[in-house]
Amino acid sequence: MKALDELTFDNRFARLGDAFSTHVLPEPLDEPRLVVASNAAMALLDLVPAVAETPVFAELFSGHKLWAEAEPRAMIYSGHQFGGYTPQLGDGRGLLLGEVYNEAGEHWDLHLKGAGMTPYSRTGDGRAVLRSSIREFLASEALHALGIPSSRALCVIGSSTPVWREKQERGAMVLRLAPSHIRFGHFEYFYYTKKPEQQAELAEHVLNLHYPECREQLEPYLAMFREIVERNAEMIAKWQAYGFCHGVMNTDNMSILGITFDFGPFAFLDDFDAHFICNHSDHEGRYSFSNQVPIGQWNLSALAQALTPFISVDALKEALGLYLPLYQAHYLDLMRRRLGLTTAEDDDQQLVERLLKLMQNSGVDYTLFFRRLGDESAEMAVAKLRDDFVDLAGFDAWAGLYKARVERDGDYSEEQRRERMHAVNPLYILRNYLAQNAIAAAESGDYSEVQRLHEVLSKPFEEQAGMEQYAQRPPDWGKHLEISCSS
Ligand code: AMP
Ligand code: MG
Repeated sequence: MKALDELTFDNRFARLGDAFSTHVLPEPLDEPRLVVASNAAMALLDLVPAVAETPVFAELFSGHKLWAEAEPRAMIYSGHQFGGYTPQLGDGRGLLLGEVYNEAGEHWDLHLKGAGMTPYSRTGDGRAVLRSSIREFLASEALHALGIPSSRALCVIGSSTPVWREKQERGAMVLRLAPSHIRFGHFEYFYYTKKPEQQAELAEHVLNLHYPECREQLEPYLAMFREIVERNAEMIAKWQAYGFCHGVMNTDNMSILGITFDFGPFAFLDDFDAHFICNHSDHEGRYSFSNQVPIGQWNLSALAQALTPFISVDALKEALGLYLPLYQAHYLDLMRRRLGLTTAEDDDQQLVERLLKLMQNSGVDYTLFFRRLGDESAEMAVAKLRDDFVDLAGFDAWAGLYKARVERDGDYSEEQRRERMHAVNPLYILRNYLAQNAIAAAESGDYSEVQRLHEVLSKPFEEQAGMEQYAQRPPDWGKHLEISCSS
């Protein structure tokens, strides 16, 4: 275990030089205060939870103090936003403070979001508000707990600094952890600005640090791209299986590591709705829930385009072709498990699709349905869940198929079934209204609700005593919350 001043820095990205990032110091927030810290994320840096309570912790993650070995840098990137290319983006309000190795030899980027203006701020103020910082913190840690690859969050530091959005809010910073902050958009930037040497340097950096096993392959760059395709297929399969809607799948928000990245107006589905659009500025529904699957491929194609100087078009196309079948295999595997099935049959895909259609038509809660399905025997569970459906005949037909399928699947006790199903079907997810409640309390100075919600969501599969209120469908006011895109 380490004290805060004992972190081991090795700032490899900073060493790539000024073509890749710019040195910028964080701009401190007034009256910094700890809102919430993640013990699990602290452990990634070998930090004991108690250090979060020390004044220096809040100072370090609000721009007042900096390690001597830190080298804060704003990274340059570009990207496709809503289908159109934006030639220059970059860290407009976040800084890569430095890179740290923990005792297990794992490498973590320390990225401070909301740290003030940079050369890439464009018209922005370089700040992040408390509301969006809490949402990013809760989502990163909740996704991780669900087993969905994601960037992590160490803490949120609040302040008295006023920040203007639709109304006056307070500035905050969130300390994000990820093995890398390199996005698809980094590669696009050097491709479209026609800087092949620097693009190769970037590719070498990513290969060495994050895909060393691809070095052994005949074509390391191609092997790396294939791996990125595979990781994205798996990540998006998990989003779809658990009802996570990212909301802004621009290529500058897609991680080169295939982890969920850059949280904006994201949402978890309450009622199942394939057409759900969580971003209210997304009028066309480009990033609707079901579109995330083809958009994943679109984004990978944009990355492939940027890699054409290194990899033949045919090989890139072939690698891209892996995406959909891999996605489907991962998705079906997860959905089978969510249904409590241990074997595979040809008609399982259809069984899932029929169920989702019924859920869609009846507005059934996506998370609670699967949880309750595992509460007791298939026979008993479907009998109880029947009331949630409008199309009773449709549901009965599905239930008949399901019970027969479960029967063919194997002979196991109700207890075994429950244990297996509860291990993949969460009871608690980050519903928008729960986040909203926690944010409202935090905005009036009470951080206990954010901390409690974070705690509950860190064990989403485990029923927790006295926490029933976190496992409910949203009340009427919380059903269709408009989540502001401004953050
Ligand atoms: P996002 O939509 O949050 O992924 O951000 C897209 C781009 O806008 C990135 O380059 C961000 O750094 C930048 N950006 C977003 N909000 C701000 C802000 N308040 N100030 C400066 N830049 C920002
Ligand atoms: Mg972004």
